[in-house]
Amino acid sequence: MVNNSQADWIHLDIMDGLFVPNISFGFPVIEYVRKTAEKPLDVHLMIVDPDRYLTRFRDAGAAVLTVQYEACTHLNRTVSVIREHGMKAGVALNPHTPVSLLQNILPYIDMVLIMTVNPGFGGQAFIPAVLPKIERIRAMIDESGCEIDLEVDGGIKVGTARQVVRAGADVLVAGNAVFAAGDYAGAIQKLRADAGGNA
Ligand code: ZN
Repeated sequence: MVNNSQADWIHLDIMDGLFVPNISFGFPVIEYVRKTAEKPLDVHLMIVDPDRYLTRFRDAGAAVLTVQYEACTHLNRTVSVIREHGMKAGVALNPHTPVSLLQNILPYIDMVLIMTVNPGFGGQAFIPAVLPKIERIRAMIDESGCEIDLEVDGGIKVGTARQVVRAGADVLVAGNAVFAAGDYAGAIQKLRADAGGNA
C-alpha cells in the first residue's frame, strides 16, 4: 500500500532497548522490507554504539542511515564511514539537544533529523517547543551552503505537518498518522496537502 502512495521514502525506526526503552526490530525485518519496498529505505538508528553495525545496515538495504548525536562519541568518523559505504548520512537530535552542536558536522552529512517527541514509542504528541529549534537549524543549513535535508520525526499529522514545514523542515516522517488510518495512500496525500507542497 505504501508503494502505491505518494511517500518518497520508507522510514524504519531501529530501537535497541538501551538507547530507548523500547525494542523494535533488526536486520531480518529490514531485509524483508527491502524485498517488498519500491522506495528507498531511510533507516533511523536509536541504538547505542551504532558503529558496530553500519555496514550491516547497508547490506540490509539502507539508502539513508541516521545515527543519534547522543549515541556517537566520534560522530565525524561515524558519518564518514556511512558515506564511504555509499549511504546518505543523517544525524538525529533528541528534543533537548541543542542544534548548535551540529555546526561543525554540517559539511559531512546529508540530513539532519530533529526529534519532535522523545524517541522510543509511536503515537506520542508533538512537542511544540521544538519549532524554534527547526527554524534555527534551517538557518544554519542555509548559511552553510551545504545540501542537507531537514527531517522531522514524531507526532507528525495534519496540522503539525504545516507547522514544521513553515519552520523549515523538508522531510516529514509519519507513523501513526498513516498506519492508524485504513487508507495509507489517502493519509499520505492529506499530509502532503497540509505540508503545502514544500516537503
Ligand atoms: Zn525515526
